[in-house]
Amino acid sequence: MDQKHIAVWDNCLRIIKDNIPPSSFKTWFAPIKAVKFLDSVLTIEVPSDFFREYLEEQFIELIGKTLRRVVGSSAKLEYNVRVVSNEDAVTMPQQGVHEITNKTVPFPAQTGTFANPFVIPGLQQRQIDPQLNPNFNFRNFVEGECNRLARAAGLNISSSPGNNSFNPLFLYGGSGLGKTHLAQAIGIDIKEKFPDKIVLYVSANRFQTQFMDAANVKNKLTDFLHFYQMIDVLIIDDVHEFAGKPGTQNAFFHIFSHLHNIGKQLILTSDKAPSELQDLEQRLLSRFKWGLVAELAKPDYETRVSILKAKSYKDGISLPEEVISYLANNITSNVREIEGTLISLLAQSTLTHRKITLELAETLTERFVSKNKVEISVGKIQKIVCEYFKISTESFLSPSRKREFVQARQIAMYLSRNMTNNSLASIGAQIGGRDHATVLHAYNTVKDLIDTNRSFRKYVSDIESQLKSN
Ligand code: ADP
Ligand code: MG
Repeated sequence: MDQKHIAVWDNCLRIIKDNIPPSSFKTWFAPIKAVKFLDSVLTIEVPSDFFREYLEEQFIELIGKTLRRVVGSSAKLEYNVRVVSNEDAVTMPQQGVHEITNKTVPFPAQTGTFANPFVIPGLQQRQIDPQLNPNFNFRNFVEGECNRLARAAGLNISSSPGNNSFNPLFLYGGSGLGKTHLAQAIGIDIKEKFPDKIVLYVSANRFQTQFMDAANVKNKLTDFLHFYQMIDVLIIDDVHEFAGKPGTQNAFFHIFSHLHNIGKQLILTSDKAPSELQDLEQRLLSRFKWGLVAELAKPDYETRVSILKAKSYKDGISLPEEVISYLANNITSNVREIEGTLISLLAQSTLTHRKITLELAETLTERFVSKNKVEISVGKIQKIVCEYFKISTESFLSPSRKREFVQARQIAMYLSRNMTNNSLASIGAQIGGRDHATVLHAYNTVKDLIDTNRSFRKYVSDIESQLKSN
């Protein structure tokens, strides 16, 4: 049999391997099989439709260039997608690479038995552990101006999940402001009122890992989709983590659409409003706004007092009024910090047999709440990056495409995204008036280089530690 396809593909792989991180190579290229090479057309076999879409979104340019280099300018690529039907795999030819646009992933029919990642061993298939934490319930979620709308919507959802105008419920707000707590409380309340409903809480990261595990293994992807297809109330925490992960977004999109279509409830949380989540697919962002988008804001003074009272009461301790008002005045950033200080206060007083006094509260607050935490700004990052590479601010901000300037800007954009709360657009605006796509590209480039290039990794971590220590 003619083995030319093997040689052609091996040559391509050698080039591709040099150009992408090893982890990506292993995940996305190792499972590909070359099956035919005829009239400059190379046919490769991929494990699934998801896989093909992912390749197209992420690597098509690289594959195209590589293939033309190996075969010549007339080179073409064709896919076969291995179609998995229960036991055996059959192969179904697909269209050529460049004609394929917007192909959707078919949902497998819900038949047969399948593995799912959340089943409680030994129980019936449908007994799915909802992954809820009983402490995050409505009873200990303190109501305040900062969460009134979100909380009311949550209560409304739990009395008629799926069948309300808040589908999806999209909760957003900064870290430690109660997103996870509230999302879980809704799940718990639904489970209490409707024990037969299948509720599932999952973090976006966990969903992503499950998807990546499933994406290229025979039958696993089908199991993954089957599993999510039967949830009645799906809670996905921190969906901003899907940014820059098109394969996962695609899987989530299909699960979202399917569940929404058949009247199932979706609850999502994120650290930013949909309009700020620029590196998520448009079709997802627009769906996030179909129901209710509600913010969890920073608690005001009254709410901080109520939270302090509720938490200390729960621990069986009554705090002197002056301590409560001192803490409420001084810990303002988020609820997690209020909780943290309170816990240290209780621990200290128990361990040292001291009464909780204003003085003790003051000492601990100084120690635990870094009041004068240095805010890292894009401007500061820019300054440190310029100093590190010994380039002037003018060159840094100029349109010049000189390699060292481009690299410095890309690193500054990467760090700004990681270390500040600025949106991509605002980072771009501050670094020489670039747009959000440029910042996203810079971010991805630096991320890849950190994976593959040791000296580059060192630059970035040097600058990072300078920023943190300053
Ligand atoms: P996020 O997910 O927004 O980062 P969490 O939901 O994890 O925040 O909340 C951080 C901590 O603060 C948790 O322990 C949570 O129980 C508590 N918390 C947040 N908001 C409230 C609230 N309104 N009432 C009581 N506790 C709260
Ligand atoms: Mg959270």
